[in-house]
Amino acid sequence: MATADKVAGLDMAAPLPAAFAKLGLTTYADLLLHLPLRYEDETRITPIANVLHGELAQVQGVVTHSDVQYKPRKQLVVRIADADGELSLRFLHFYGSQTRQFTPGNVIRAVGEARGGFFGVEMVHPRCRVVSADTPLPDSLTPVYPAAAGVSQTLLRKHIAMMLAQADLTDSLPEPLREQYRLMRFGESVLALHRPAPEASLAALADRVHPAWQRIKFDELLAQQLSLRLARQTRRALGAPVIGGDGKLAAQLLANLPFALTAAQQRVWQEIGRDMTEPYPMQRLLQGDVGSGKTVIAALAAAQAIGGGYQAAFMAPTEILAEQHFYKLRSWFEPLGVEVVWLTGSLAKKARQTAMDKLVSGEAMLAAGTHALFQEQVAFVRLGLAVIDEQHRFGVAQRLALRQKGAQPHQLMMSATPIPRTLSMSYYADLDVSVIDELPPGRTPIVTKLVADNRREELIGLVRDKCYSGAQVYWVCPLIEESEKLQLQTAVDTFTALSAALPGVRVDLVHGRMNSADKAAVMAKFAAGQVGLLVATTVIEVGVDVPNASLMVIEHAERMGLAQLHQLRGRVGRGAAKSVCVLLYQQPLSALARARLKIIFESADGFYIASEDLNLRGPGEFLGARQSGAPMLRFADLAEDADLLDRAQQAADIMLDKYPAAVASHLSRWLSGRQEFGKA
Ligand code: ADP
Ligand code: MG
Repeated sequence: MATADKVAGLDMAAPLPAAFAKLGLTTYADLLLHLPLRYEDETRITPIANVLHGELAQVQGVVTHSDVQYKPRKQLVVRIADADGELSLRFLHFYGSQTRQFTPGNVIRAVGEARGGFFGVEMVHPRCRVVSADTPLPDSLTPVYPAAAGVSQTLLRKHIAMMLAQADLTDSLPEPLREQYRLMRFGESVLALHRPAPEASLAALADRVHPAWQRIKFDELLAQQLSLRLARQTRRALGAPVIGGDGKLAAQLLANLPFALTAAQQRVWQEIGRDMTEPYPMQRLLQGDVGSGKTVIAALAAAQAIGGGYQAAFMAPTEILAEQHFYKLRSWFEPLGVEVVWLTGSLAKKARQTAMDKLVSGEAMLAAGTHALFQEQVAFVRLGLAVIDEQHRFGVAQRLALRQKGAQPHQLMMSATPIPRTLSMSYYADLDVSVIDELPPGRTPIVTKLVADNRREELIGLVRDKCYSGAQVYWVCPLIEESEKLQLQTAVDTFTALSAALPGVRVDLVHGRMNSADKAAVMAKFAAGQVGLLVATTVIEVGVDVPNASLMVIEHAERMGLAQLHQLRGRVGRGAAKSVCVLLYQQPLSALARARLKIIFESADGFYIASEDLNLRGPGEFLGARQSGAPMLRFADLAEDADLLDRAQQAADIMLDKYPAAVASHLSRWLSGRQEFGKA
């Protein structure tokens, strides 16, 4: 390539023009993995007469006519002609200088999507350049890169060509591994993608199934696996308190419970108890469907910590849940002589100070709260265990903040939302996982009903009967994502309407904008059976546990996520009474909404629901905005590339074991620069 000699000696670490930063690109080395989004085929010219409506094509012709029209709006219209056809080029935005290239007689090469217009076939805003009749066609597909304002395709192509002339394309994968996994060489792959051979298939490159893409995706997943394993090693090296003790406190707690642990609970409790006796920090995820009894397992772990002389902290994602945990933990621990405090953001200053004082002095050994527990000012004298309930509701960043709090505590994360296998192998690969796979005995399955909104009156009759017979009911108001104010208004309206429709039933309301004391008071009344019908927003989504509640109505169920519906539904069916969950939906339903409601209607299995949810939404959304602190994959797609992930995982183990030097060079190639940058 001609540019090669011009830039001999180009330093890969040299900075790129500042505008490139918008794409997460700082140095020339970063360009190596700035790979095309797609390709355009400019190796052929389509005769104008053969151009098909709706198809991307390259044409070449002589300008016969060019003028700026003012009706219906200002636009530049150019006519070009080849041997047997004529075509219009239309520009709604253009510069004066552009009009000059269309001087009649000039030969224009244009790439664009053709469509049938009022004046025959035309292209709107095609890419054009002036050529001479014998200007050669490029001999390879033209890459189209992720671009940004001030960083055009032309500029990108120019700098990438300079970079390719100098780049180090050595393979970072040891040859035996490359052969074992039948992968294309790294250098060949990069060149094939930046500068595809003339005969390369546009389709294979576009679908990213080309062996070159396979290699790149494999490398990316390998880098992720390697860095996760290294992070784990580093964490192990940190050290954590060895918490064994005599197990007396935990045994007492167990003895006081009105139930015996299920076999699954016993098994996970053993796994957790053992982790805490290790000299490095536990990082365990306790997974169990809604209602499987995770709280008591965390309480047992807390008892082991406290029995061994360490404090434990119990973090929940909402104030309601934090408060409920507080009461539950206090009822379990106070009889054992252990003081429990609670801490949330909305706690009055004085109460907050008192709680903090007790934690720093060690007077309180157990704290329940929201993420306020792990803010700067809160100091524990000897924190040995941190429990994070409903882990999926917290972001990766929060998880990491907690990790950095003082000496490394053991960490127990809990979630009812099962993580699909590909995600647990990637983003969550640094965690050990325990699963509670059975529900406590004596539960009657929840019956789920789908009811169209026009049967609302009938439904209110059912609620009335339930309440009169002494059962308790939740009525969940619709989620209105666009406006918190509107959501609140709807909740208040629903409350008013239902109160009027149900004379003699005590109705109450709980929503996110209430202060925590008011929320707590309402929840306490509901838990004590003093309220028959609780109108609520999704603040009750997680963890709330009132066994006497046996009917739940969810309005506009079609607006909610599947995991959310499953969580909500799990608020009933916690006692012996037969429970019903009514999903009220508004017609007409979109095909997607119908598919989702069908899943939740047919299944009560949280794992199945989550995996179906993943199929419908894709892992990006599953990870969600909350997880956006995590370095995202740029090329690999966890849903499509699961088999590559398996191989990358194996290869990572082999490399760490046998090829430490290759590990270092692979990571430096993949993790330098733009690792935090989102998927292109
Ligand atoms: P989740 O796993 O959804 O957090 P909880 O910990 O809130 O579930 O437990 C749900 C209910 O089941 C609670 O009332 C809890 O006391 C009860 N529970 C937990 N374990 C058992 C058990 N082994 N036998 C009977 N009830 C249990
Ligand atoms: Mg729970």
